[in-house]
Amino acid sequence: MQAMPHPETWLKVVPQGLYCEPGGFFVDPVTPVDRAVVTHAHSDHARRGHRAVLGSADTLALMRVRLGADDARETEQALAWGEAVTVGDVRVWLQPAGHVLGSAQVALEYLGTRAVVSGDYKRVADPTCAPFEPIGCDVFITEATFALPVFVHPPPEHEIARLLDSVALFSARTHVVGCYALGKCQRLIALLRQAGWDRPIWLHGALLALCAAYEARGVTLGDLRPATGAAKSELAGAIVLAPPAAVTDRWARRLVEPVVAMASGWMRVRQRAKSRGVELPLVISDHADWNELNATLEEVAAPEVWVTHGREEALIHAAERRGIRGRALRLVGYGDEDEAEAVPQ
Ligand SMILES: [Zn+2]
Ligand SMILES: [Zn+2]
Repeated sequence: MQAMPHPETWLKVVPQGLYCEPGGFFVDPVTPVDRAVVTHAHSDHARRGHRAVLGSADTLALMRVRLGADDARETEQALAWGEAVTVGDVRVWLQPAGHVLGSAQVALEYLGTRAVVSGDYKRVADPTCAPFEPIGCDVFITEATFALPVFVHPPPEHEIARLLDSVALFSARTHVVGCYALGKCQRLIALLRQAGWDRPIWLHGALLALCAAYEARGVTLGDLRPATGAAKSELAGAIVLAPPAAVTDRWARRLVEPVVAMASGWMRVRQRAKSRGVELPLVISDHADWNELNATLEEVAAPEVWVTHGREEALIHAAERRGIRGRALRLVGYGDEDEAEAVPQ
């Protein structure tokens, strides 16, 4: 019997990203490669130019919308949750990550060892995507966007109630909520619908295509209308969603005495909200908070955790205190969609 090789010997950090050597593929590569496994459709994880892409059907569909027809891939392979394929010498399967529609964790098995790449994830229920499913493994590779004890996200329903309270109080004004175009926008809409808001929700043009894509994939969002071209009278008392960069720029002049809100995990940091002119900060994040990250380490029960894009040190320290070996993965090229300043495509 062959010795079980430590994942360190077959999963490597290279300039293109995380490389699975015996499979001959990269996970979320940051430059064009021959074979990519993509966790989800956010722009820092799903880049253009790969020859072959494997991912969930929803992720592949959202990539087509985001990257357009000119991103001609030779092959696309969609995997259902839990459906395993062998790539090279590696068994690969996907389980939901609960981050945005289609977002997946990637499980990799090679010669009796199992590594799981979390991608971006969260643990609170999200009406627009399948919930995160913990997978026991030998090495868990986790994101760490909000890996500081100060980041404890309130329940999203609580933040939606604050928004609706403000709408009731300032009923003649427009509430404009800055939100990222893929995931956050559709989640906000779904949360508003759950809270009983059945009036039209008005959208900046940059959000329309991805909302249509969600609806086409079976996520119902209700009455959505383009804000561009709407009469000012229609926008009084209305909720308008726009990319973060648009809520305080020229575009917002069409709104009626706008109350500027922003939905992001970073709204926990008062100074960020202030510096961006946000009057109503809503702490709604698609990333796990400190408690969710730690609870997840417990659940997957991996003796070793590799930590990427975020505050690695704090989570590694917390893991080591519980006897889990920690390692900071120095992957470059991953941002945080909440931070995006530009109007996304
Ligand atoms: Zn993401
Ligand atoms: Zn990310």
